[in-house]
Amino acid sequence: MMAQYLAIKRANPDCLLFYRMGDFYELFFEDAGLAAAALDIALTKRGKHLGEDIPMCGVPVRSYEMYLSRLVRAGFRVAICEQTEDPAEAKKRGSKSVVARDVIRLVTAGTLTEDNLLDARAHNYLAAVAQAQGQMGLAWVDVSTGELMVQALECGRLGAGLARLSPGELLVPDRLLTEAALADVWSDWKAVMTPLPSVRFDSENARRRLEALYGVGALDGFGAFNRAELAAAGALVDYVELTQKGKLPLLAHPKRLAEGAVMDIDAATRRNLELATTLTGERKGSLLATIDRTVTGAGARLLAARLAAPLTDPAAIERRLDAVAFFVDQSSVRETLRHDLKRCPDIERALSRLSLGRGGPRDLAAIRDALGQIPTLRAGLAANGIDSLAPALAEAAHALGEHSGLVDQLTRALADELPLAAKDGGFIRPDYHPGLDELAVLRKEGFGLLARLERRYADETGVSALKIRHNNIIGHHIEVPSKQADKLDERFIHRQTMANAARYTTTELIELAGKISSAADRMLALEGELFGQLVTAVLDRSDPIAKAARGLAELDVAAALGELAAEGNWCRPVVDDSLAFHIEAGRHPVVEAALAATHSGAFVANDCDLSDGHRLWLVTGPNMAGKSTFLRQNALMAILAQMGAFVPAASAHIGIVDRLFSRVGAADDLARGRSTFMVEMVETAAILNQSGPRALVILDEIGRGTATFDGLSIAWAVVEGLHESNRCRALFATHYHELTRLAARLGQLSCHQMRVKEWQGDVVFLHEVAAGAADRSYGIHVARLAGLPAAVVARAEQVLSALEKGEQGGAVARLADDLPLFAALAKPRPADVVATGPSPLAARLGAINADELTPRQALDLIYELKGLA
Ligand code: ADP
Repeated sequence: MMAQYLAIKRANPDCLLFYRMGDFYELFFEDAGLAAAALDIALTKRGKHLGEDIPMCGVPVRSYEMYLSRLVRAGFRVAICEQTEDPAEAKKRGSKSVVARDVIRLVTAGTLTEDNLLDARAHNYLAAVAQAQGQMGLAWVDVSTGELMVQALECGRLGAGLARLSPGELLVPDRLLTEAALADVWSDWKAVMTPLPSVRFDSENARRRLEALYGVGALDGFGAFNRAELAAAGALVDYVELTQKGKLPLLAHPKRLAEGAVMDIDAATRRNLELATTLTGERKGSLLATIDRTVTGAGARLLAARLAAPLTDPAAIERRLDAVAFFVDQSSVRETLRHDLKRCPDIERALSRLSLGRGGPRDLAAIRDALGQIPTLRAGLAANGIDSLAPALAEAAHALGEHSGLVDQLTRALADELPLAAKDGGFIRPDYHPGLDELAVLRKEGFGLLARLERRYADETGVSALKIRHNNIIGHHIEVPSKQADKLDERFIHRQTMANAARYTTTELIELAGKISSAADRMLALEGELFGQLVTAVLDRSDPIAKAARGLAELDVAAALGELAAEGNWCRPVVDDSLAFHIEAGRHPVVEAALAATHSGAFVANDCDLSDGHRLWLVTGPNMAGKSTFLRQNALMAILAQMGAFVPAASAHIGIVDRLFSRVGAADDLARGRSTFMVEMVETAAILNQSGPRALVILDEIGRGTATFDGLSIAWAVVEGLHESNRCRALFATHYHELTRLAARLGQLSCHQMRVKEWQGDVVFLHEVAAGAADRSYGIHVARLAGLPAAVVARAEQVLSALEKGEQGGAVARLADDLPLFAALAKPRPADVVATGPSPLAARLGAINADELTPRQALDLIYELKGLA
C-alpha cells in the first residue's frame, strides 16, 4: 500500500494527497504534519517506512468538504485519491493485492464547484495570464458557471484587469514571474498565484486545444483572438482539465472583452472607493453590499460582476437603464417577480456539478424548481406580451425558454425527500419506473415474509422473544435470549453468541434475505441508472438551461436595481459621449446609509459640475468637513451610472468615463515595504501617466505625507499637470489654501469649499459644498474635538497665530526660542509657591525613594499626594 501511496504522491508533489482508506481520507508523512497543523486535528502514526514511524492524520469522508474548504482557503491544493475498483476485485487477484486507487480530482482555489466551498453571492474566477508578441492576454472562467472570457491588454493595464476579477486562483507562466515590469502586479496576487511551466502557455497548442474543445475548425467564429489571448485561454482550459482529471465542466464559447469596453479601475482605486470590500476587507459597508437587493445567488454574482466592470458604451448602458426604469415604474410587477425569483435555486452551479459528474439528486431538484418557476415568472413579467418590455428584459424573458418537458420528467421522477448523493438511493418517486416499483414490491413482500417467518419460528420454537434482525456485519439473523437458545431445533445454525443473546440463521432465512438484498441491490443499481438518465436529460438541454439561468440573473439584477432606486429615490442618469459631469444633489450611498442606520442626521446632498469650463475642482475645507465623502460620491456616481444603475442624486449627466482614478487617504503598504508617502506618489504617478481626457480623477490631499513646502510644491505641480496635460475631469481636495491662487491662472480650475459655521466659538460642519475657497483649516478645532489636552491646543493656537502673521522665518525662529511646549502645558503656578520655594507636594515627592516602595505603599502614597495637590 505504501508503495502505491508513494507512487501517487510522486505524481502529485505539489498537493496534499487525500488517500482514501475506507471511511477516511488519510494523509501521510509531511502532508500529515501540514494538514494536522492547518486543521488543528490529531497527528498520529501508522506503520513504518524505512524503519521510521509514518506520521498520519485523517478526515472522515462524510464531512470532508469542511476540511477541504479550510485547506484550500489556507492556500493548499488537494489531490483526492479514491479507490477505483471494488475491493472484491482486488481480492480476486490475490489476498495481498492492494485495491487500485487513483487521483480523481485536484482541488484548487480556482476550480471549486461545491456550494459548501463557494460563496453563493460571489464569482470565483480562475484566471490565466499569458504574453505573446509583446501583448498580454488575460483569460478567466468561473468553473462553477462555465463562463469563459478573454481580454487583450497592455502590460500597464494588467493590474486593473486582475483587480476587476479578483481571481481565486491565477495561473502564471513562470517566465513572467521575473519580469520586472510586472513585479508590482504579482505582489498583489501572490497569495493566489499558481506558477506553471511556460510551455503550457503555447499559443499554437492552445489554438488546437480550443478548436478541439468546441469542435470547430477555426475559432474565428467566436471572435478575433490574438496570440496572447489564445495562450491564456488554452492554458486555462488545460488546467481545468488537469484538475478535473479529464472531466471538463460545460464551458461556454470564449467571449472577448473588447479593448476599452469597460471602465478601467485599478486596484488602488477599487480599494479606496471600497467597491466590493471595505478597507478592512469586509463586504459589509462596501458599495456592493449597500446596493445589493438581489434575491438569488446568480443575481448577486451578476451584480458584483457589473459593479466591477462598468461599461463605456452609452447604448449598452441605456439598454440596462431601460430595464431598471421599467422596474422602478412597475412596482407591483417588481414585487411579484422578486417574490417568484426567491424560489429559484442556483441552477448555474447545479448544472456545472451535474456536468462534472459531481451532482446529486438535489441538483436535479434545483433545476426542476427553478425551471418550474419560469412560466409563472414570465406571466407576471409580461402581462402585456414580452415584446412590450424594454429590449433587455424581453431578451431575458425569451432566454428563460420553455422547459416543460424536462420539468415534467423531473417532477415525476424525483421523490419529495432527496438524499445528498445518488448512491444513497431512495430518490425516485413511486410510479415513475415500473421495474423499480416491482423491485420495491418484491422488497416489501420480502419484509412481509420476514415478519411472517419470525412469527412462525416464534410459534414453532415457543420462544416468544425470537426476533429476526439485521446488521451490516452478519446481515439478517435470528436472535433469541441466550437462556432460551436450547429451545431451538437443528434447523437453526449458530452464528454468534452475544452477552445476553444468541444469533442463528436458517436456510429459509438465507434464501429470503438473499431475495431481499438482491432486490435492494437491484433497486440501487436501477436508481443509479435512472439518475444517469435524468442527468443526461438535463445535460442534453444544458445550453437552454444555462441561458435560462442567465435570464433569471438578468431579471434579478434589473429588478434589484429598480427596487434600490425606488427605495432611495434615485434618479436615472443621462450617460452619453460628451465630457459632461453634472450631478445635482448627489449623495454618498454608503455614508447616507450609515447615517440613517445610526440616526445621526440627514445626509447633505451636494452638486458637482465638472463640465467644460470648470473641469477641475479644487475643494478646500477643514478635516471632517466632508471632502472625502464628496469626492468619493462623485466617483461612485460614475461607476453606478455606467454599470447601468440609477444614481443617488436629483439628476446626473455623465459623459462616459473610460478610466477612474482615486487617491483617497492611504495606509502604509507594509506588504511591499513602502511608506504612505511612497504609496501616494506611486499612485499619483500612475494617474498623471495614464489619465486622458475621458478619465475621472479623484485626488485627496496629495503631498500630505512630507514636509509642508515639499507637499505644497508637489500638489501645486500635480494640479498644473492635470490641468494642462491630462486635461481630465478631476476633483482635488487639499489643505493647501495657497493652491486656490492657481485659479487666477488656470482657466478650468474652480475653487470650492466645504462650508462651516462658527458658532459661540465652536465650529459646525455643514457638509455643504459652496463656491470659493476656505479661509481656515480649523485643524486645531478638530484636534480639540479629538481630545488633545487643552494646553497643547492653546499652544497650537499661539503657534498658528504667529505663523499666520506672515513673517514666517522670523516668527518660527522666535517660537523656537520661546518657552518650550512644556511651559504652556504646566499649570500657572501660584505666586506664593514661587516665593516660598518647593511646594509640600514637591517636597514630599522629593523625599520618596521609589525603589523601596511596595505596590501597596505606592497606592497609599498616591492617595496622600492627591491630598497635597
Ligand atoms: P474630510 O475628508 O473633510 O475629513 P469626511 O468626508 O471624511 O471629511 O467626512 C467626515 C464625516 O462627516 C463623515 O464620516 C460623515 O459622517 C460626515 N459627512 C460627510 N459628508 C456629509 C454629508 N454630505 N452629509 C452629512 N454628513 C456628512
